[in-house]
Amino acid sequence: MCPPTPPDAPVTSARGPTRLRVDTLLKADAIDDFTHGPFDPRVSHYTPIGYPCDADDEPQMATTMSRLSRKADSARTVALVLAVLGYRRRLRRRDQWSRPKLLSYQDEALARLRAHAYAKSPFYQDFHAGLTDAPLSALPVLTKQRLMDNFDCLMTRPDVHLANVERYLAQLRGNELFNNRYFVSATAGTTGRRGIFLWDFAEWVQVVSSYNRAFDWAGSSAGLTHRVKTAVVSSTNPSHQSARVGASIHSRWVPTLRIDSGDDIASVVARLNGWQPEMVIGYASMLRLLAEEQSAGRLAIRPQFIFSASEVLTDATRRLAADAWGRPPYNVYGATETSGIAAECGQHAGLHLFEDLVITEVVDADNRPVSPGQYGTKVLVTVLFSRTLPLIRYEMSDSLQLAPPGHGCPCGRPYALISGIQGRQQEALNFPAADGHARTIQPLVFHHVMDTVSAAGWQVKQQGDGRLVVLLAQPQHVDPAALRVALRSALVGQGVQPPPIEVQEVPAIPRTALGKAPLIIRQ
Ligand SMILES: [Zn+2]
Repeated sequence: MCPPTPPDAPVTSARGPTRLRVDTLLKADAIDDFTHGPFDPRVSHYTPIGYPCDADDEPQMATTMSRLSRKADSARTVALVLAVLGYRRRLRRRDQWSRPKLLSYQDEALARLRAHAYAKSPFYQDFHAGLTDAPLSALPVLTKQRLMDNFDCLMTRPDVHLANVERYLAQLRGNELFNNRYFVSATAGTTGRRGIFLWDFAEWVQVVSSYNRAFDWAGSSAGLTHRVKTAVVSSTNPSHQSARVGASIHSRWVPTLRIDSGDDIASVVARLNGWQPEMVIGYASMLRLLAEEQSAGRLAIRPQFIFSASEVLTDATRRLAADAWGRPPYNVYGATETSGIAAECGQHAGLHLFEDLVITEVVDADNRPVSPGQYGTKVLVTVLFSRTLPLIRYEMSDSLQLAPPGHGCPCGRPYALISGIQGRQQEALNFPAADGHARTIQPLVFHHVMDTVSAAGWQVKQQGDGRLVVLLAQPQHVDPAALRVALRSALVGQGVQPPPIEVQEVPAIPRTALGKAPLIIRQ
């Protein structure tokens, strides 16, 4: 049913560069076709620019990009920036919708996604066999493992094969596209096998726009006539989605300094001081560190907008950032698979779900819906604009909570609110209870204790033998014995037997390959 990967399939198309169709892309109708009408592959097949090279040229492509290709690259960037600005207007109009209108749009968008998947994806034809008319909640859950095991079958385009995408990713250096057509990002692979995701130009417009919506809601009116100097302290690995988004929109309209969050903090501070960004985007752990640096006087920047774009933004980090820069940070929730999922508006009353772009189901370990006001174990996401790689009820291990009824946001936007994000399922640690059974302790239990500690960062590590090791980066006036007592009593309060706890002072919290510093980890 699913065609096998041709052994010597070319990595890139043999066609010459596709003519740039800015006019097509800019017509509201072109984007509209994608989101409102039946899917029109012609829009995405006019994906702007390719490099005229054969598979044999591919290894040299990144380093020997011709002048012509660089021009093509710039043209694609211009087209993307303009298309995103155009799409922003559409997204803004949705902010004015009533909730019934939003839900009705969501139903229509879901029907279009499913019709596309059933027509074009051999995997979904089989996976949803007999269920094509069933409600979303009756459909099977798609895990990352299953997705990657069935990658070629799941694709709706015959020119995408995993082996070729892997080869392309191994050589990716900048903003080159796979098969001259697709933007590709990979997840870190910290939780098992890495996931690989693809988007064509029309989809990528919506990926970038979803992140841009968070900036828009915060009041940043970046555009062609108003540039906002931005600093992103994140992963600079070219296959990481934030690097990919950054590379694709890098232009004089989007002056951005990208810093790897794994770099030495003194160097990060020096570069930020030199750049003086108006907008700072970083992982929560990095914002905390930077807030400490600002308060200590080593960092001296005055950003108008601060975004926490990954990891758990705890109340303490939020306060530290607000104290350091005189304005609260905006929390943004996104993932490689979905792009932006939710963001805060200026009310900071929670994160509004981007329900016009992604359907987010908060569920327990058995995929049953969890009531608002309760933390789920994971989320199932359906990405309404996904077409190249349709994602329907895709499982992600984030634990979050929808706001209970009556806890709306005064801004009037129609989107549901997330009232809490406590991290990933992997951050929930197990301890023995008095009855001998293992019991799961949610990350928030540790956040509440550790948030009282004054330090440039912290991490709770559960060792293989169950012991807890607490790392404190540059702690100030912290009594390790008192901290151990506080953690022990929090665990006893949850009905579990506390293990031995060790507190260690470290110069910095160790970061993962992508530069993150998880608050809670299991070893
Ligand atoms: Zn709001």
